[in-house]
Amino acid sequence: MSRKFFVGGNWKMNGDKPTIDGIIEFLENGPLDPDTEVVVGVPALYLEYVRDRLPKNVCASAQNCYKVAKGAFTGEISPAMIKDIGLNWVILGHSERRNIFGEDDELVADKIAHALDEGLSVIACIGEKLEEREAGQTEEVVYRQTKAFADKIKDWSRVVIAYEPVWAIGTGKTATPKQAQEVHKKLRQWLWDNVCPSVSKGTRIIYGGSVTAENCKELAKAADIDGFLVGGASLKPDFVQIVNANAGN
Ligand code: PEP
Repeated sequence: MSRKFFVGGNWKMNGDKPTIDGIIEFLENGPLDPDTEVVVGVPALYLEYVRDRLPKNVCASAQNCYKVAKGAFTGEISPAMIKDIGLNWVILGHSERRNIFGEDDELVADKIAHALDEGLSVIACIGEKLEEREAGQTEEVVYRQTKAFADKIKDWSRVVIAYEPVWAIGTGKTATPKQAQEVHKKLRQWLWDNVCPSVSKGTRIIYGGSVTAENCKELAKAADIDGFLVGGASLKPDFVQIVNANAGN
C-alpha cells in the first residue's frame, strides 16, 4: 500500500505577521514536490491569517485543541472551532504539550478521539525521553503512548503518527536513519499486531527531531519513515528542501 510522503511544519509559539509573510513567500516559491502532502502547524491566533495566504498545495494546522466542543475552558480552542474556520488538521500530543503542560496519555487520547470524531485529521505525536531511551524503555514508552489513543480510534485514515524522540527535539541531535527506522518498523509491527494489517500498511509514521536540509534525504530513504514533523527548520527556506526530501526515492 503506498503512503503519500507527508511533511509537517511545527512553528510552535513563533512568528509575527512579517515573519509569516516571509514563510509564505518561500512556500509559494517552492517548488514543492507534488507527491508530498504539506501541512504547517500555526499558532491559533494566526490560523485565519495563514489560511488566507498559503499556496493551495499547503494546509494550515492547529497545534493543539481540547477534548470537548465548547464550554468553560478558558484559553482553549475546540476541533469544532478549527472546522468552523475551514481547517482540517491539528497536532496533538506534542512532547512540549506532554512535558511542559502536563498532558498525560489519557488526555492526549481523549483529544485525539474527539478531534477525529469532529472530522479533523490528526498528527498524533509520541516519543521517549532521553532517560527512557538510556534505560532501554523506548519500545515500552512508544507502545504505551500509541495504545492509549489506538484504543479510541475508529477511523485511521485521518491519522498520521509522528515519532519524535524527545532528546532529538530542538537539540540538534537527530536520530540516525537506523535508530529512527528501527522504532518506525517496530511501531508498524505494533499496529499490525494490535490494530490490523491494513492500518499497519496504510498509516503514515513520520519522524521528528532536528530534521534539517542536510539530514532529511538519508532519513527519507528508510522504508518505514513516511515523512517528517519539522520544528525549527520549518521557519526557514530550508523547509522547501525537507518537503522535497523524498523526490527521486
Ligand atoms: C518539533 O517541534 O516537533 C520538532 C521536531 O522540532 P525540531 O525540528 O526543532 O527538533
